[in-house]
Amino acid sequence: MCVTNHDAIYNLAARYLQKMNGAHGFDHTQRVVANAQNLARHYPTVDLLVLETAAWLHDIGRGEEANSGVSHADVSAQIATQDLPALGFQPEQVAAICTAIRDHRFSAGRTPVSLEGQLLQDADRLDALGAIGIARTFAEGGDRALYHPDDPLAVWHQPDDGHYTLDHFFTKLLRLPETMHTAEARAEGEQRLRIMHLFLSAFASELPETATGECAGGFMGMLLQKGC
Ligand code: FE
Repeated sequence: MCVTNHDAIYNLAARYLQKMNGAHGFDHTQRVVANAQNLARHYPTVDLLVLETAAWLHDIGRGEEANSGVSHADVSAQIATQDLPALGFQPEQVAAICTAIRDHRFSAGRTPVSLEGQLLQDADRLDALGAIGIARTFAEGGDRALYHPDDPLAVWHQPDDGHYTLDHFFTKLLRLPETMHTAEARAEGEQRLRIMHLFLSAFASELPETATGECAGGFMGMLLQKGC
């Protein structure tokens, strides 16, 4: 990305994200850009301008989603469609950037078709894993209960991350590496998953026995049973 483009895109992202904190603050976007750049090194045919711009802008609709409920992926793409032509982007570049942005969202269940879209989704998902992923999960959990009082590791209850923050590991996070499109992201995701397994194991060992029952001793076995 040339310097002028970089400054303009950075400023556009900062305008929407700089005041945001927690799991989706500006720091998240900066890490996603770095993840995308690292993955892109393995793919010489990638359009870096499209990928980096999509990474900078992928979450700029988060604020609007909080107000209106409209998917941030669609709002981010809408803002990009409006603002990028004035920054010198060609229609086909805007279209490619917006497609990657629309397709990145986990809960939309979309599968990106372009290489840039796949790298963006992998880069975003990597930031949900490892030590940073753990920190972001509890930041996002806010004042929800940390865990189900009688079944912290979701051995017998259906994981419910709307009520219990720890359940988010079981509804989404532990299965993210297998959803990665690129071998490089999958390998990095598996590495970060080990940190999360260690964390869950330590978490379980620190709980009162009444809460964990049998599963603290057989924690890894329990994960295997869940297919995580
Ligand atoms: Fe994101």
